[in-house]
Amino acid sequence: MITKNSVALAADATLRARGLRLTRQRRIILEVVRATDAHPTAAFVYRRVRRRLPRVSLATVYRNLRTLAAEGFVAERADPSGARFDGNTAPHDHFTCVACGRIYDVPPRADRAVRARVATRTGFEVLNHRTEFYGRCVACRRHGRRSPVKGQRRS
Ligand SMILES: [Zn+2]
Ligand SMILES: [Zn+2]
Repeated sequence: MITKNSVALAADATLRARGLRLTRQRRIILEVVRATDAHPTAAFVYRRVRRRLPRVSLATVYRNLRTLAAEGFVAERADPSGARFDGNTAPHDHFTCVACGRIYDVPPRADRAVRARVATRTGFEVLNHRTEFYGRCVACRRHGRRSPVKGQRRS
């Protein structure tokens, strides 16, 4: 069984191996991102981190998130609502619910034919590709929610 502690220890070891300065702050930020599958914004991470580090600033949390993303410990994705961070760094695609705005992980579509087709049409060397799904999640279908939740910015 993978305990929270063993995950944290593994993260420590990887951080050290890559020569990234391991501060308590950075470790806590990483733990917060990995503990949720909500693809949080920096503001969300900041609120959680602040419970454990009351004096931390949003700017510091954001800067550390960018560093962790640059080092590959978390994934960063651009979203209409701002940058979102993903503790799941394994290959996967995303499903965005248009009713509640939640971003879900879905299995990657390892469809090499798509890459080949794009490569053939454009002459580009395609190294990677990502598929974004949009629709209504199970909870929203069940509750008949159709329109975006109030207060949520959509583009
Ligand atoms: Zn939903
Ligand atoms: Zn994800």
